[in-house]
Amino acid sequence: MTEAQIHTYATWTEIALGVLTFVSLFFVTAPYGRHARKGWGPEIGQRAGWILMELPASVLWLAIFFAGDHALELAPLALMALWQIHYVNRTFVFPFRIKAEGKTTPLSIVLTAIVFNSLNAYVNARWVGHFGSYAVSWLYDVRFLVGAGLFVAGFAINQHADAVLMSLRKPGETGYKIPKGGMYRFISCPNYFGEMLEWTGWAIATWSLAGLAFAIYTAANLAPRAIKHHAWYHEKFPDYPPERKALIPFVV
Ligand code: NDP
Repeated sequence: MTEAQIHTYATWTEIALGVLTFVSLFFVTAPYGRHARKGWGPEIGQRAGWILMELPASVLWLAIFFAGDHALELAPLALMALWQIHYVNRTFVFPFRIKAEGKTTPLSIVLTAIVFNSLNAYVNARWVGHFGSYAVSWLYDVRFLVGAGLFVAGFAINQHADAVLMSLRKPGETGYKIPKGGMYRFISCPNYFGEMLEWTGWAIATWSLAGLAFAIYTAANLAPRAIKHHAWYHEKFPDYPPERKALIPFVV
């Protein structure tokens, strides 16, 4: 079997995992954050958990990318920059900004995420740096421009939404409040909405099955969780804004 065939199988495996995740998450809520509960085995600190989970998506991704034949070409480098803007933040900045004192995550969740992020790093970094073919002219192709625009818009929404959440707790607080402002006027989970927009943009900017696989997985992972977060808010806060939707403004 050639490596190109292995890469195609890996990409379809990621899509299959997306479908499996989507279906499973309607029966079992991933036990971290507000949905954390006992019975999922040993736990580690939430901050360390985030860093470990996301290391393959940033560091391993870079190693795979630079091992590729096209890694030093301009368009692949631009795509690499988009990916890394997101994942350097998620791995090395976000975990130190969250108010995670005393919070833990099951090791099983961390290990599962490490496996998925490693697969995803191979699928996307190997595509962009090696199997894909992006000439310099790709940088002014409408697919790259629209995709990169969506990615940057999604990143801005995700960053703002995460920043609002992180500002809700005073030092030492661990509880939950109703987030307000920005896209929280319309939906309960603009961080997830922004994240989905980013990876949809990535799929368009790379115009690849690899990019599509991650966009599908992200939506499959985050949409059910947004529905659970939304229901949780309504359960905990009787004064929760009734007009607010879960994930997509005015729709869901
Ligand atoms: P959440 O929105 O559940 O939580 C984000 C942070 O804000 C946590 O520290 C959480 O604390 C805190 N927080 C959330 N809501 C409140 C509130 N109402 N009051 C006070 N604090 C609050 O997001 P996730 O932890 O699930 O995800 C974090 C980021 O990672 C997001 O940007 C998301 O898009 C991204 N992500 C991407 C995935 C993908 O498949 N691409 C998968 C999962 C996450 P606590 O942890 O204590 O609840």
